[in-house]
Amino acid sequence: MVEHDSNKERLELALEAAGLDLWENDLVTGEVPCKAHKIFAELGYSPDESAALIDDMFHIIHPDDVARVQQAIASHVSGKTDQYRCEFRVRAKSGEWFWYANYGRIMDRNSENPGKRFIGVTFNIHDRKRREDMLESMNRQLTEQNALLENMNTLLQTLATTDPLTGVANRRKLVEEGNSELLRAQRFGQPLSLLILDIDNFKLVNDSWGHPVGDQVICTIARTCGQAVRANLDIVARIGGEEFAILLPQTDFDAALDMAQRLCNIIAKLPIDTGIPDIIKCTVSIGVAALTPAIHSFEQLLLEADRALYQAKDAGRNCISCNRAERR
Ligand code: GH3
Ligand code: MG
Ligand code: MG
Repeated sequence: MVEHDSNKERLELALEAAGLDLWENDLVTGEVPCKAHKIFAELGYSPDESAALIDDMFHIIHPDDVARVQQAIASHVSGKTDQYRCEFRVRAKSGEWFWYANYGRIMDRNSENPGKRFIGVTFNIHDRKRREDMLESMNRQLTEQNALLENMNTLLQTLATTDPLTGVANRRKLVEEGNSELLRAQRFGQPLSLLILDIDNFKLVNDSWGHPVGDQVICTIARTCGQAVRANLDIVARIGGEEFAILLPQTDFDAALDMAQRLCNIIAKLPIDTGIPDIIKCTVSIGVAALTPAIHSFEQLLLEADRALYQAKDAGRNCISCNRAERR
């Protein structure tokens, strides 16, 4: 008897120290030989209220959690799970919801005996759940902020490499791509060409129809160049007010000359509709340069195409030119 009492004392001390509330159900009679009382006091209920609630725990379990608790009990009773474990919210007298956990097991169960004593403990896990919720919400915020940062970086990258008026690449992007295409061409012994195209007498366009119309003409020329080149391979860049460069990877000198001539012809014939009564006509001059063993940098290739452009201007505009002599 004394030993029994001291075991009971030891058990009570262990349960108290661990913050556990013990319960036991008789699955055959439906009786509750041991009731969890502590949690009701913790939740602010008087002993009378606890006595009423204890037989109808589901009344104060969060509606979203009831099915989960019932499922966990059913799984254990049917023998699908070795233990009954469940986490759920319980309504305090104040109306607030607090998280608790149940851990239990049906005792003396074996093949002949289905077991009738369902013993378990209930304990408060509210602080842990709150920390988990906080962590989850912080993680969510971090994920959202990372996505935002990524989008902003992509946008910044686009802004840093795009000409705002025409949407084609800017000089920075051209130089970046030009440098890497030059390295690639040298490494694999492939051709590489560059065109520089300048709108002829563009000042007259501005003087005759105004700057906004001039802007539209620049955009139309940019679009026309973009349509004439190979998508995802050639690069059209605006490198000055009315000046464009077109980088042509894997394109030899003759093919670049053909391309330049074709572009010159297309633009000369292009009726440019800017919404004003007049249909504007423009011509361009194009300088052509191709990679040779004497060229060691993209800067040099640019210079050569630029020199050729001036020759085309000198030759009367609306034409193409190249530095053939320097190619030898
Ligand atoms: P050339 O045939 O020798 O190239 O003659 P041009 O008139 O085209 O060349 P010039 O360098 O004398 O004039 C270029 C003009 O382009 C002057 C400048 O006001 C205009 N321009 C530069 N940037 C822009 C722009 O963004 N929009 C508009 N509308 N005009 C621009
Ligand atoms: Mg010009
Ligand atoms: Mg110019």
